[in-house]
Formats: sequence, C-alpha cells, structure tokens
Amino acid sequence: MSFPDLVAEHGLDRIGLRGKLTANQLLSAVTWFRVGGPAQLLFQPADTEDLALFLRHLPRDVPVLPIGLGSNLLVRDGGIAGVVVRLGARGFGQVSVEADGAIRVGAAVPDRKLAEAAATAGQGGFAFYAGIPGGIGGALRMNAGAHGHETREVMVELTAVTRSGEIVRLTNADMAYRYRHSDQPGDTIFTEAVFRGVPRDEAAIRQEMAKVAAHREAAQPIREKTGGSTFKNPDGHSAWKLVDAAGCRGLQIGGARMSDMHCNFMINTGAATAEDLERLGETVRARVLETSGIALEWEIKRLGLFPEGVEIAPFLGARNAEVAADG
Ligand SMILES: Cc1cc2nc3c(=O)[nH]c(=O)nc-3n(C[C@H](O)[C@H](O)[C@H](O)COP(=O)(O)OP(=O)(O)OC[C@H]3O[C@@H](n4cnc5c(N)ncnc54)[C@H](O)[C@@H]3O)c2cc1C
Repeated sequence: MSFPDLVAEHGLDRIGLRGKLTANQLLSAVTWFRVGGPAQLLFQPADTEDLALFLRHLPRDVPVLPIGLGSNLLVRDGGIAGVVVRLGARGFGQVSVEADGAIRVGAAVPDRKLAEAAATAGQGGFAFYAGIPGGIGGALRMNAGAHGHETREVMVELTAVTRSGEIVRLTNADMAYRYRHSDQPGDTIFTEAVFRGVPRDEAAIRQEMAKVAAHREAAQPIREKTGGSTFKNPDGHSAWKLVDAAGCRGLQIGGARMSDMHCNFMINTGAATAEDLERLGETVRARVLETSGIALEWEIKRLGLFPEGVEIAPFLGARNAEVAADG
C-alpha cells in the first residue's frame, strides 16, 4: 500500500525546511510491536522553529500526528494518511539541570534518561521513569506513570507547536491531566518540558530505581514486541485480573498473544499483523464484558487505517480466537 506524494503536491521541498521528509515510511520500523503500515509522509524536524515553519505551510486539511518511541502504539496495517511527525535526538534530545534544580528535557529524550539525570542532580520523584520505555513526548501526552506516581506530579510547563504552527507554552494545569490522559488536541506537538522534583539523597534514589528495574524484569515481558499495558485499569479494578478471570491469559489469534507472564500485555510472537493484535484485543474485551460486566478501555493508542476489506468491530465475539488459552 502506498499513498500519493504530499511533498510534490504542496511544494514542501521549497519552503526551506532543515529537517527530513520521507514519503511512505513504514511505521513497523519504529513501533515496539513491529507492526504497522506506512506514514503518508514522515517529517523529522531539525528543531522547534523548523517544525513551526512546516506546520504553517502545510494546508490545514492535511492531518498531522506526532509519534514518540512507539512504545504505546498499535499502527494499523493500512498506514496513516497525512503527516506523521517524529522528533529526533539531534534537535530534541537535550537534558539540562538548571541552577534552581529545574530539569529541562527535550521531547525525544527517553524517560529513563530523565530518571538518570534527576538522580545525578539529587532530585526525587522521577524514579518511576526508570521502568517506562517511552520518550518524554509520549509521557507528556499519556501522563505516563508507574508505581503510584505519574508525570503530572513533576511536570511544570512545556513548549508545544500547535497545528497552525504557533509556538506556545502550556502549564501543568493546561494539560488537564487524568489517568493516562491529557486534554490537548492530538495534533499539538510537545517539543520540550520543564520538570521539578524534591531534593533527595542520590543513593536512595538509585536504590529505588534499581527496585523499579528489578520489578519490571520479574513481572513484565519487557524484551518482547509489545505495547505495554493493553487496557486501562477500570476504577477499583486491575485490568490484568479481569483479563485473567476471563480466561484470556495466553489467548492467541494469528501471531498475537496475551502474554503468559503479564496477561494485560499483548505480544507479537513473530509474524503478527496489526489486525491480529486488534482482533485479539477486541476479543478479550468481549470476554471480559461477558464474565465481569466491565467494558475495558484500550490504553494502547490504535492509529491509522484498516487495509481494504478489513474492519474490526469493537467487542468481537470470542469465537474469533483460533487458539484457546493454554490450560
Ligand atoms: C514494556 C512496556 C512497559 C510499559 N510500561 C508503562 C508504564 O509502566 N507506565 C506507563 O504509563 N506506560 C507504560 N508503557 C507505555 C509507554 O511506554 C508510555 O505510554 C510512553 O509514555 C509512550 O511514550 P512513547 O514515546 O513511546 O510514545 P508513543 O507510543 O510513540 O505515542 C504515545 C502517544 O503520545 C503521543 N505523542 C508522542 N510523542 C509526542 C509529542 N512529542 N508531542 C505530542 N504527542 C506525542 C502520540 O501521538 C500518542 O498519542 C509501557 C510500554 C512498554 C512497551
């Protein structure tokens, strides 16, 4: 599948961009699941001004979607129409600790690197990032969190570029954070953020980070092709317990499987398509609804188009499962 060329159509190679434009870039190369069709156009800006210039010139009816390290994405096999923006380490990978203890971080910085910098600076409140494999852009959007802590506790303000190409500052309150959710439009792109923690002994922080890493290693399939927690925890419930009680641990459709190790994680066992993964997720939702009456919500972001002739309805009947859960 390939999309028409947006660069030629809109003269994007003639506006003085310093970043990189790639037509029909396969997104399976950048998602953790290793599935997903092409982006019609992938733009990797050189810096915030370059991104703003691009967005000012791009006609408003062309959709724009930022992606980060791809650790929370299920990109459909038909790909993404419009522009996908991915920030690279060169323009957006800086971390600096300011004299007053504030930590300024580019949106392409991996969460783990922020945890490291905070530990070195003796700033507590960031150890939970040591276990999250995404980048700061995704963390800002998703209010990423773990072990009882979330991004909203340490984020002070951020810089963003709106769809119309305006560079704006947003405060923590502007983000209206909730559990794994913020309220800014999906085509607003975060480029940098300022964080602040509380002073704490470096050795104690490093001990906590080591605990976080050990917990991940023992409890999550972190070396698999996965997207992290598939479903949000409903109020008062753990998603994994509901999935387990519905008999879905180890449930497999095509190359997609609910992890035996942590049954709220979906895994691409090798040759899964995005269709296999989404079918599996919707089948699990149907089974959980049947057994507990609870409608699980996806935490993983599903993006893009189904290939022609394919459509996956929500809450698919359990008969779609080709291989039953072991035992
Ligand atoms: C093994 C594993 C364990 C995980 N554990 C956790 C966990 O404990 N806690 C947790 O919260 N998450 C967890 N995740 C999910 C994921 O790592 C987080 O949601 C992370 O914050 C996503 O960051 P990313 O850079 O990969 O974003 P992506 O997955 O690329 O994108 C996620 C969302 O963020 C948006 N986005 C990305 N970059 C930007 C930007 N610069 N500006 C605006 N929007 C942007 C995208 O449009 C998309 O909506 C886990 C994932 C895996 C694979």
